[in-house]
Amino acid sequence: MKVPMLDLSEQYMSMREEVLASLDEVMKSSRFILGDHVKKLEADVAEYSNVPYAVGVANGSDAIHISLQAGGVKPGDEVITTPFTFFATAGAIARCGAVPVFVDIEPVTFNIDPTKIEAAITEKTKAIIPVHLYGQMAEMDSIMEIADKHNLLVVEDAAQAIGATFKGKKTGEYGHTATYSFFPTKNLGAYGDAGMIVTRDADIAEQMRVIRVHGSKPKYYHHVLGYNSRLDEMQAAILNVKFPHLNDWSEKRRAHAQRYTELLKERLGTAVVTPIEESDRHHVFHQYTIRVAKRDELQQFLKEQGVATMVYYPKPLHVQPVFAELGYKQGDFPVSDQAAEEAISLPMFPELTAEQQDYVVECIEKFYQ
Ligand SMILES: *Cc1c(COP(=O)(O)O)cnc(C)c1O
Repeated sequence: MKVPMLDLSEQYMSMREEVLASLDEVMKSSRFILGDHVKKLEADVAEYSNVPYAVGVANGSDAIHISLQAGGVKPGDEVITTPFTFFATAGAIARCGAVPVFVDIEPVTFNIDPTKIEAAITEKTKAIIPVHLYGQMAEMDSIMEIADKHNLLVVEDAAQAIGATFKGKKTGEYGHTATYSFFPTKNLGAYGDAGMIVTRDADIAEQMRVIRVHGSKPKYYHHVLGYNSRLDEMQAAILNVKFPHLNDWSEKRRAHAQRYTELLKERLGTAVVTPIEESDRHHVFHQYTIRVAKRDELQQFLKEQGVATMVYYPKPLHVQPVFAELGYKQGDFPVSDQAAEEAISLPMFPELTAEQQDYVVECIEKFYQ
């Protein structure tokens, strides 16, 4: 048996006619840039996030960058975030000319540890970017309390967490902005690059709309330095077909996660550490990530058995060569370093079958015997 990390083709085949009709409509209208499909998706995603504004942009990385810029982050400012995330989180900070300042994570959720944030704040700190890793939100109450006390901007990197909640509130209801990625493998995936920012702040929303069109307002008059970062109309047309299914897909992911946990506990006991959904959170399981000993050997063994896995992330950002000048070293963030050695994500997508799950767990059991 072969079990892929994810399989996008089955989902496409289930909605092929609708997708093709939607694309055909765009091409017939010849309205390719910021047309009605982008507007509809913005309205739907804003409503879904319980906030008034959404701004479609080219990808999830630009969504973070544009949020920081619209929120007033300037060269030389410091922005606090986690070293255990995808590169784009810290990359967006550096692209503003600002300095990423890392704070270690909690071992259970893999998210930024709020108890360690205040020690990292200086007079140069301007913003915090919590990342809702693997689909579970960070501890937003404590983070917002610290941000309010120190007058800091909060950008929620929700690239992996559309639909997640913390104490009943959605991504975007806590921070000044929350950013989504519609990269094809994300929970709501386009057929190319796309992203979106949601916000409760009318001024920030307006500023972000200006930045995504070269800082132009009115057209051909430039008061701020923007660039070209628009959500493509064709991608919006595809996403409008997929969006109504998002909650159903999240429920399927949650059911698969529960089943993985039951099977792994039953068959492997304490040999693997299964993910925990905190009681005040709704986890949308972008990834199902376990912690294990001999992680790399397990990954190799599973590959030989036809089971694909991924390591998110093998090298935390504080030890990435591109950030060497920040002066961090291995051991500065021990919880992140350990997670980078132990974490492994198992196949996870809504269409995953029970037989595939059984096989994955069987293979893991075989390895540890
Ligand atoms: C995917 C991802 C991004 C970047 O999104 P793109 O659309 O690929 O630019 C940023 N942060 C996190 C945590 C991500 O997983």
